[in-house]
Amino acid sequence: MIPGARLIILGRQGAGKGTQCTRLSRHYVVPHISTGDMLRAAVREGTELGKTAKAIIDDGGLIGDEIMIGLVKERLSRGDAMSRGYILDGFPRTVGQADALVEFTAEQGRMVDVVIDLDVPRERVLERLSSRRVCRDCGTNYTATGTERNGWSCDVCGGDVVQREDDTPESISRRLDLYESQTEPLIAYYEERNELVVIDGFGHPDDVLARMIGAIDLRKRGGSAAAGSR
Ligand code: AMP
Repeated sequence: MIPGARLIILGRQGAGKGTQCTRLSRHYVVPHISTGDMLRAAVREGTELGKTAKAIIDDGGLIGDEIMIGLVKERLSRGDAMSRGYILDGFPRTVGQADALVEFTAEQGRMVDVVIDLDVPRERVLERLSSRRVCRDCGTNYTATGTERNGWSCDVCGGDVVQREDDTPESISRRLDLYESQTEPLIAYYEERNELVVIDGFGHPDDVLARMIGAIDLRKRGGSAAAGSR
């Protein structure tokens, strides 16, 4: 039987978290829980949450901790996450969210196995974000090369492939600033708890994935974080 995993993936917008999380989710057979995807689905469905979230997302801001913590606790309480684990992508984003998650996972008796910081410098992610395209329906990520014709459809589900509304230069810059002020402190937070592994996110996606799996399996076998980091 394939063992599950409980993972948190940190990293700047455009570091490749979405792509790698999809692949890790297949590898460990656990749900990929992306808070960004959950919020975008709520916007599409026109729920109360979606109505509150839309302007904040488009502007590159952060949704309040209370809402986000409630959303994630509910998702982590479902059967698939309880039995096999999960990959959290986009959460926690603030120390308040991280504190709530530590408390919640301790109550559940299911602590996170490892926190990965997928490290790609700001200059590199800026290039990636400007060419990022995403399927409106299933969330698959693509990189535009400039040669695509109009009406690009998704290889996975056939949905429309578009540029995210929050991938404008102003919003990208605001989100990267917020990452540095709100989310980067989480790197020290998890380092102090001895749960962090830093993975170089630069390079071919297959190589990055192999580095991540190597570090996760080492931690799950009880190896030290330092052995998997650089
Ligand atoms: P992402 O797809 O992870 O880049 O998330 C898109 C947007 O959703 C972010 O820019 C935030 O506005 C919002 N968002 C996603 N996750 C969180 C979170 N954990 N806390 C607050 N806002 C979030």
